[in-house]
Amino acid sequence: MPNNLWNDEEAAGLPDRDGLVYRSNILGLDRAVVNIFGGNTSAKLCMVDHVGREQEVLAVKASGSDVLTITEPQFALLQMDEIEPLYQRDEMSDEAMVAYLERTWFEQGRPRQSIETLLHAFVPHKHVDHTHPDALISLMCVEDAAQEARRVYGGRAAYVPYIRPGFTLSKWIGGMVRDNPTIECVVMGKHGLVTWGDDSKSCYESSMRIIQETEDYLADRRRGKKVFGELKVPGLSLQNREDILAQVLPVIRGAVSSRRSAILQTDSSDSVLHMIGSEKTSEVSQIGAACPDHLVHVKRQPFYVDWKPAEGADTLSDRIRQGIADYEERYVANFEDNKNPGDELRDPAPRVIRLTRARTSPTPMSAASCITAPSPSSAMQRRWAASSA
Ligand SMILES: [Zn+2]
Repeated sequence: MPNNLWNDEEAAGLPDRDGLVYRSNILGLDRAVVNIFGGNTSAKLCMVDHVGREQEVLAVKASGSDVLTITEPQFALLQMDEIEPLYQRDEMSDEAMVAYLERTWFEQGRPRQSIETLLHAFVPHKHVDHTHPDALISLMCVEDAAQEARRVYGGRAAYVPYIRPGFTLSKWIGGMVRDNPTIECVVMGKHGLVTWGDDSKSCYESSMRIIQETEDYLADRRRGKKVFGELKVPGLSLQNREDILAQVLPVIRGAVSSRRSAILQTDSSDSVLHMIGSEKTSEVSQIGAACPDHLVHVKRQPFYVDWKPAEGADTLSDRIRQGIADYEERYVANFEDNKNPGDELRDPAPRVIRLTRARTSPTPMSAASCITAPSPSSAMQRRWAASSA
């Protein structure tokens, strides 16, 4: 459930630019609302340029920053009067869009704007949030997401189907909002949510309200169902688990570090234990990425290791070595089959490994775990417990 973290005392008196930073940071506090490095926020501000003229300036989260930790200098600043004519175009390549937007910079030395910048520019409201909430993505990944959107939000939302972020998606979203002035949000197939407001607080509260409605709807649909099936295999004692991890973690680090060093983190939270110990884990975990963020951070699939404690740690180590080699081979083959001109192969090693069966317990004993290896950003690594390779 998303917590409304807005604090009137903390936000009191903040000018629009600082209010944007405050709103961004509290959105990032809940990773079920915004994945790390995912989503972006903006405000259209009145600023004075170098010759003393007042300009409408779009302050939008720049590429490579995270809303949780973003500070004011990490927002790109772009001149709105030079962006607005783009709305009249029918199409624009990513390269042309990036080159054009670089020429609209209000201030030199700012970080580069993201590929989703025009979405913020084309929505005709002062403050705009674009988030990737877990609940929204769950709903927007179903077969007929448009129908689900109508069922949950009625006429208060517009729906856009999934396409890669870029000019066309931004124009679709801007057009929906301009043509339907009474809607409260745009929901995006397999992607996320766009909300807006006249000030930071109303924008944030709109995001929270829509996410809450979505979570309530999903909780209702889920009631009485076991999404991952029955819990199948009993877990390990804490001591056993630690002994096994001590043996297999160096194996994993070695296997995923053939191209660059890896840092591992294990996650034995209740929700992870429940998922990896259930009968449908092997099937559900391999369905594929739910949204672009998952592709970036997890790749197309996590690596799932099917193993039972009675088989022993040596068997597990062998299965990990072989499984990671197979995973890399599949990754390279998939890249070769689907690459476009200019695409470069990334590190093919898995980033998330679902390992071992587990059971829940009143005092969580946490048998096994979800293990993650580095994703593209070094900033993320700060969040991970380091262990040497
Ligand atoms: Zn997005």
